[in-house]
Amino acid sequence: MTVNLLDFDLEGLAAFCEQLGEKRFRATQLFRWIHQKGASDFSLMTDLARSLREKLPGAAHITGLPVLSRQDSADGTIKWLFDVGGGNAVETVFIPEDDRGTLCVSSQAGCAVGCRFCSTGHQGFSRNLTTGEILAQLWQAEFFLRQHLNRPGERVITNVVMMGMGEPLQNIHALIPALKVMLDDHGYGLSRRRVTVSTSGVVPMMDRLAQECPVALAVSLHAPTDALRDDLVPLNRKYPIAELLDACLRYLPAAPRDFITFEYCMLDGVNDQPEHAQALLELLRGHAGRGVPCKLNLIPFNPFPDSGLRCSPRAVVQRFGQLLNAGGIVTTIRKTRGDDIDAACGQLAGDVLDRTNAARRMAQRRTTEQPIRFVTPEKERQA
Ligand code: SF4
Repeated sequence: MTVNLLDFDLEGLAAFCEQLGEKRFRATQLFRWIHQKGASDFSLMTDLARSLREKLPGAAHITGLPVLSRQDSADGTIKWLFDVGGGNAVETVFIPEDDRGTLCVSSQAGCAVGCRFCSTGHQGFSRNLTTGEILAQLWQAEFFLRQHLNRPGERVITNVVMMGMGEPLQNIHALIPALKVMLDDHGYGLSRRRVTVSTSGVVPMMDRLAQECPVALAVSLHAPTDALRDDLVPLNRKYPIAELLDACLRYLPAAPRDFITFEYCMLDGVNDQPEHAQALLELLRGHAGRGVPCKLNLIPFNPFPDSGLRCSPRAVVQRFGQLLNAGGIVTTIRKTRGDDIDAACGQLAGDVLDRTNAARRMAQRRTTEQPIRFVTPEKERQA
């Protein structure tokens, strides 16, 4: 069986070339052909030694993912649905802005974390993506966009956010080589600030990411108390907020930015009241006696069938942001993009397969659980 060269970072490719009896610098040439020129045909890699060009087809291939669909939004957002086999699909979204082009990449088919407000979480977990499947999303999007936008030889994707389907840090084994390719000057040459990993709070893996490949970090917070976060982000029962914020403080010395981004999905009547904003301020400014240097990103909830949740009204989101800004936490409201193509995470792939019947299990959970009760951190400590 031949190997897919998209599965290798430069170190891995060098080891592979050595196995073929080739010098390491040949790996750099090959790597550039793949990730800087988008090549997949060895015979066109003219500066490779002929001996290597002849060996490669019998030992390796460069293969992306089949495209199930592509949708183009009126605002320039493009969304791909990629087939990863076994009835599973993952989504990748390109979001163009004036000064950047951001690609939102998936790390797993489905997700085991099961956040209540997340369409992917309702689909259940199928499997981890391989390094090659993570990188194929970037590789295919970049070289499609260069052609599509008529920008040959010019980098179109300037930022990558690991915020698509899946919890990236529950697939860190495949994630780290993929990040290394994104950062490598012979690959995509993105700076650490322009590559963001989003996590729901897998604390031990946050430490590992800091050691092995520190990039910008976004943490899905969504609630100021453990009682509420336990319900919205079930992983909180394993790694509660205090442990998560400690991990953020440990991450910061290695991080490419001097702050952590916290994501906060605005859910009508659930986590969007002034008392939630006040509790959030106390938490983020007061944790460990010094607070966590951070920015907060408010995300209008994108409703999907059977979520049982509604998006907070615009005025409520604005008031929430004002309270936080006034309290000294820089807070922005995320613009929604690609509304006409359902560009929010998980909305299309869910139509392909609900492998573990997670949607049914979640609906049952909602009907058997008590309504969400807001508890201030002070009350929680007393309880
Ligand atoms: S928000 Fe992220 S971690 Fe939570 S279920 Fe969705 S994909 Fe998984």
